[in-house]
Amino acid sequence: MNASPAPPQPPPPSGALEIDDLTVVYGRSVRALDGVSLRVPAGGIVALLGANGAGKSTLLRAVSGTLPLHSGAVERGSVVLDGTPLTGRHAADVVAAGVVQVPEGRRVFASLSVEENLKAGRLGLSRRRRGDAPDAFPQVFSLFPILAERRRQAAGLLSGGEQQMLALGRALMARPRLLLLDEPSLGLAPQMVEQIAGIVRRIHEQGVGVLLVEQNAALALELADDAYVLEVGRVRLSGSADELSRSDEVRRLYLGERPVDEASEAVTEPVAGAPRTLSRWAG
Ligand code: ATP
Repeated sequence: MNASPAPPQPPPPSGALEIDDLTVVYGRSVRALDGVSLRVPAGGIVALLGANGAGKSTLLRAVSGTLPLHSGAVERGSVVLDGTPLTGRHAADVVAAGVVQVPEGRRVFASLSVEENLKAGRLGLSRRRRGDAPDAFPQVFSLFPILAERRRQAAGLLSGGEQQMLALGRALMARPRLLLLDEPSLGLAPQMVEQIAGIVRRIHEQGVGVLLVEQNAALALELADDAYVLEVGRVRLSGSADELSRSDEVRRLYLGERPVDEASEAVTEPVAGAPRTLSRWAG
């Protein structure tokens, strides 16, 4: 009897990030991360929360290979994408490997047109992939119709929200497997924040993983599958986003809720001094 050939298997999902025991220093004296371990499963959304100075941007820099631009260095530990070490690689190599950062504050090229900004994102593809990879313009324009309408306009003339869309679109032009988003909702009006959140969901549905640093903790926990809370360079809490949303500590420190006194069921003031809150808390 002839065994029928096995049906073709879809390619395994890619873009899994594994960070182990990561320790980062700036100069000789600032240890910004100390033994941080974190996972982003392929195609998952993971949120990174923490107060100012906790080390969130440092972690993104360590992944994107941009630490040297800030006089920082990995002292110990590893960053691995789909089994391949990224630690110590140049920023351009990290982008070519499929990890693309959307920096805080958008940083679009103001004097270039929308289309030129998007083309600049395509330069992130390695020369080989640039030849093979399908053009990402249709995908970007379907996610952001406004960018298609404004394609000839100077990027500096776009609104803050539109510039955030352009920064996301430019990152997608490099066909990432994993996006590093640094505070995408910062400074945006609530309606625009909702729109950006919807776009992050759609990007995720297209199989792209997301590591999200976001000062709006409620939004981050709503979008994410899993979350980590950093405190002075260490992981203080981690778990599923649902679990963390229910944690008293997260609710008190990051979701702006006051603790309930269980004896009286009355809402009480926090116990020891002022609660630590995200200094750019917008919730
Ligand atoms: P924020 O929400 O304010 O952006 P963060 O959680 O992203 O904070 P980091 O910017 O990663 O925190 O900073 C972590 C620590 O490293 C802080 O103590 C900060 O002062 C320090 N730090 C950050 N960048 C540098 C640098 N280029 N040189 C020296 N120290 C730095």
